[in-house]
Amino acid sequence: MSKRYDNQGPFGTEIKCSFCGRKQSEAGHIISGKSGFICEDCVQVCNNVLGEQKNKTSDLNTAQTSAVQPPPPLPQEINLPHPSEIVKFLDQYVIGQETAKKVLAVAVYNHYKRLKYNTKKTRDDVEIEKTNILLLGPSGSGKTFLAKTLARLVNVPFVIVDATTFTEAGYVGDDVENALLRLLQNANFDVKRAEKGIVFIDEIDKISRKSENTSITRDVSGEGVQQAFLKIVEGTIASVPTQGGRKHPQANNILIDTTNILFICGGAFIGIEEHIKHRVHVQGIGFESYLTPRNSKQSYELLKQCTPDDLVKYGLIPELVGRLPVTTVLHELDHKALERILTEPKNALLRQYAAIMQMENTRLTVTDEAVSEIATRAVKLKLGARGLKTIIEEIMLDIMFEAPSENRDEIIIDKDYIENHESPVFTVINKTA
Ligand code: ADP
Repeated sequence: MSKRYDNQGPFGTEIKCSFCGRKQSEAGHIISGKSGFICEDCVQVCNNVLGEQKNKTSDLNTAQTSAVQPPPPLPQEINLPHPSEIVKFLDQYVIGQETAKKVLAVAVYNHYKRLKYNTKKTRDDVEIEKTNILLLGPSGSGKTFLAKTLARLVNVPFVIVDATTFTEAGYVGDDVENALLRLLQNANFDVKRAEKGIVFIDEIDKISRKSENTSITRDVSGEGVQQAFLKIVEGTIASVPTQGGRKHPQANNILIDTTNILFICGGAFIGIEEHIKHRVHVQGIGFESYLTPRNSKQSYELLKQCTPDDLVKYGLIPELVGRLPVTTVLHELDHKALERILTEPKNALLRQYAAIMQMENTRLTVTDEAVSEIATRAVKLKLGARGLKTIIEEIMLDIMFEAPSENRDEIIIDKDYIENHESPVFTVINKTA
């Protein structure tokens, strides 16, 4: 690009800014490019726009919610397989949780089918309402993982937000609109795409109000946040501050229509069995100890009978419960399921570590006994599948520390190594041997 100091265009006419159209006599300095001109003022405007965009991105990167995802892959069309194919896809990654998979597959299929045909009404003018979903189940049972895997298949922007980080407007904490900001970021600021995304609200049970009776005092952590979530869940035009944080009248806001955003809420709802038990009258003779100590199978059976009423008793506001018409329960992962999670899914944890070791040209073998031992430890940790990662990281630490500087063909992890890996007993086959 070079500066021009005369005011004549290619055909002897006075040059004009290609952006604002003003002549040089009106606009002052004009810079010429290969095929256009730009005036000082327009350069300034461009500068401001680029500066804002930069700030916006860095603010977003430092904001608080979990899941900051990479930009969505191309192509950007919604991919909508039939529910049975959705389940087949989920089966490759998620172990067990058959009912939850089926329920989610149908709900997600119906939701996006309605969007794909770009109509809320059928031929008979029947309005098809959005079906948000509530996932109940213990921590580490795959609630988030299921939602995330689904979003990847359908190819829509997806975000996980932690309900506990939000507060009612006016209090310290995030406005719920920031959940939408995360979604927008994930959609590469494509508002239309964000408006078809999935928001996973984790720990929804942690914002339950403390008592079923409406109190006149303000409940910062509970009801107020639920009310705020209710608005975006049921469908509204939300004004999303692009700088994150609190809404501010002078801030740059983007309007997002949440009508077609699918909300999936997840929570462990610890103790809700007591309400269910009470309702189904099982606390008769001999049943008082039914859940003490909590038995996962019995707990699952009770959770399956959970009704909207039980959720309200637990502390969710009735209006929000009404907006989560599909509820499904995930069961606690038992020893067998944890063993399978370690080895079977496409991106199973042990496969991931094997891939890491492969980069060092070392084959990693974990014996069946060792797999069983890891699962046993995870059961004891009571963190569900989450515990597996913690345990394996610990087991693999020394191996990953040494492997890059040692020349091994194979490392075999057996039960002995796990039990006593301070003095490693794994079999080492040296390349040179
Ligand atoms: P939750 O949301 O129920 O607390 P997550 O979905 O966050 O649990 O699970 C934590 C991790 O454990 C997931 O990222 C996933 O790797 C693994 N995981 C959990 N459940 C399963 C499952 N059923 N099958 C395979 N992996 C699972």
